[in-house]
Amino acid sequence: MIVAIDGPAGVGKSTVAKLLASRLGFLYLDTGALYRAVGWGVLRHGIEPTDAEAVAGLLPKLSLQMEVTSNDVTVSMNGTDVTKDLRTPAVSAAASVVSAIPAVRAWLLPVQRQIGNKGSVVAEGRDVGTKVFPSAPVKFFLEADPTVRAQRRHHELVAAGHRGAIEQTSAELAGRDDRDRSRAMAPLIPAEDAQHIDTSSLSADEVVNRMLAVVTAKL
Ligand code: C5P
Repeated sequence: MIVAIDGPAGVGKSTVAKLLASRLGFLYLDTGALYRAVGWGVLRHGIEPTDAEAVAGLLPKLSLQMEVTSNDVTVSMNGTDVTKDLRTPAVSAAASVVSAIPAVRAWLLPVQRQIGNKGSVVAEGRDVGTKVFPSAPVKFFLEADPTVRAQRRHHELVAAGHRGAIEQTSAELAGRDDRDRSRAMAPLIPAEDAQHIDTSSLSADEVVNRMLAVVTAKL
């Protein structure tokens, strides 16, 4: 069983995907962490994220490994655990830029599908229901008011020790969304058969309960 959850940044995908995976006993696949790992590698090697040729040339030198459980993801790059380094604003921005490069998306596709072959998964990202697992029997597309999304992401960043004004977080989210929605390959769009949930005024538990009802009806 694959549950696909897509939507823009700050909409609560990771929170609900982890809760849902734990409640169902499924694996949690955070596809964004893979794009972040490539972004991290690109910055680490001093490559400009917009330089598609240089980024594509780096990929064969990156040995990327992802371990997943029902509520945790560990990403290693060339043998080093980089999980804790992936959530900075610099890596978010680099991930967003490199994710528009077709070679990067093609490189990460089999990695994501391999994890999907390990068992039942709740997978979250931008193109999970449209490209990675198009035949997933359950698909959700989450949406939320941009102000609510900025507030949520800002709280996460502050809790993680980052400083910066909410206006900056809001501008970063808007920039990433624009790039995700407008890229030529695998843009952020809902799958035709996705169920839409607006999370603006719902708690994580409320969203998960709605999802659980849909998933258990399919089991
Ligand atoms: O989900 P998260 O915010 O961690 O993703 C980081 C970036 O990776 C996103 O801004 C998006 O550009 C990219 N991404 C993607 N396709 C996915 C998951 C993430 O393009 N399936």
